[in-house]
Amino acid sequence: MIYDTVVIGAGIAGCSIAYFLKKRDQKVLLIDKIGVASGGSGAAGAFLSPKIGVSSPLKDLTDDAFNFTIDFYKKNFPQYYHQTGVIRVPKNELDASKTSKYSKFHNAKYEELTPAQVSSLGFNVKYNSTLFFDGGTCDAREICMELAKDIDFLCFDVKDITKTDDIWMVGDKKVKNIVLATGFENSLFDMRYMGIKGTWGNRADFSSQLKLDVSLHESLSISANMGGVIKLGATHELEVKEPKPCDDSKSYELLKNASNMIDISDFKLIKTYCGMRSGSRDFSPVVGKVIDAGKMFEYPYIFDGRKYPTIYHDNLYILNGLGARGFVLAPYLANELTNLIVEQKPIDKRANADRLFWNWVRKLNRGFL
Ligand SMILES: Cc1cc2nc3c(=O)[nH]c(=O)nc-3n(C[C@H](O)[C@H](O)[C@H](O)COP(=O)(O)OP(=O)(O)OC[C@H]3O[C@@H](n4cnc5c(N)ncnc54)[C@H](O)[C@@H]3O)c2cc1C
Repeated sequence: MIYDTVVIGAGIAGCSIAYFLKKRDQKVLLIDKIGVASGGSGAAGAFLSPKIGVSSPLKDLTDDAFNFTIDFYKKNFPQYYHQTGVIRVPKNELDASKTSKYSKFHNAKYEELTPAQVSSLGFNVKYNSTLFFDGGTCDAREICMELAKDIDFLCFDVKDITKTDDIWMVGDKKVKNIVLATGFENSLFDMRYMGIKGTWGNRADFSSQLKLDVSLHESLSISANMGGVIKLGATHELEVKEPKPCDDSKSYELLKNASNMIDISDFKLIKTYCGMRSGSRDFSPVVGKVIDAGKMFEYPYIFDGRKYPTIYHDNLYILNGLGARGFVLAPYLANELTNLIVEQKPIDKRANADRLFWNWVRKLNRGFL
């Protein structure tokens, strides 16, 4: 049998694209070297809220994805999406001074709350804050498992992929299209132009009887109390190259920070989670076809700044660079990528990976990289 598409990597990105392709009647195989949600996706607190700020390609993309994804989870996996609302609290005086400037750019239902109103919801904060009613948290692992439920799955570490005529080989499987959804690991092709890097993070579940019906995000996120469990997240460590063991001391640091906002007197650590997020060179997602950098370099004046038609690896696609918002972005972008693979419909240009190529070549030329 020849699969239409093999998806490599079964985090929220890979599970989402496999799900949408299967809905379009593709024969899909999902592969992961460890298992579904074994990378950053299994560690995520999976808080969902819009991006705050003035309009920009990334903010507008995130907000469109937020609205799409909330509807998608509520319609398909209502048991795993907890729409508690999320209060967004300014991190400092400067942030707080911009609250009213930012409000005209909100693209989701919201209400401004005074510190007294936030306090009546169980949190001690200094500044006027914004409650986004549709925000909340999802059960990260369960959502991934549900998305992957009816998809053929294999557990192995893909070391390389080869192509003969129009058919790719992944292990002993023949396939027309490949989607790379491998998170921070990208050794299968020359994808340096995307500049994908990992950011290590810890988060934790605590048991508590504290009454919290709403989730909150300031410099850390605190979930509503769901059946006696409150999630706290997350730390961000740059320059970590390889995953390391989970460290409970990071969870206690998060707890200490949370104690500025909530009563933590009965909190008991249940579990620390840790994993890698993957971000691109410009911190926006990278979705679409993969450029064949080797072939592009054969153009004679490419390093002199001359632009040429883009050459792609045939039928090779990527869905990556979801940063700290994989559970917001993945379903929306997977739907976009499905439209590209099935109908050759152009990808949302705010996420299209091509944007990074010419900039990278310019930097190579100037010796910046
Ligand atoms: C502590 C923490 C908290 C977070 N909190 C949130 C949050 O609140 N909200 C939110 O939206 N996001 C959050 N995130 C971010 C979110 O988890 C990421 O955006 C998401 O994991 C990205 O998904 P992915 O599928 O691209 O990568 P991953 O989940 O890392 O999946 C990549 C998969 O590819 C597999 N793989 C790699 N190479 C190969 C190979 N050669 N062969 C086979 N398999 C391979 C890996 O085993 C892995 O399972 C958090 C992340 C962390 C670490």
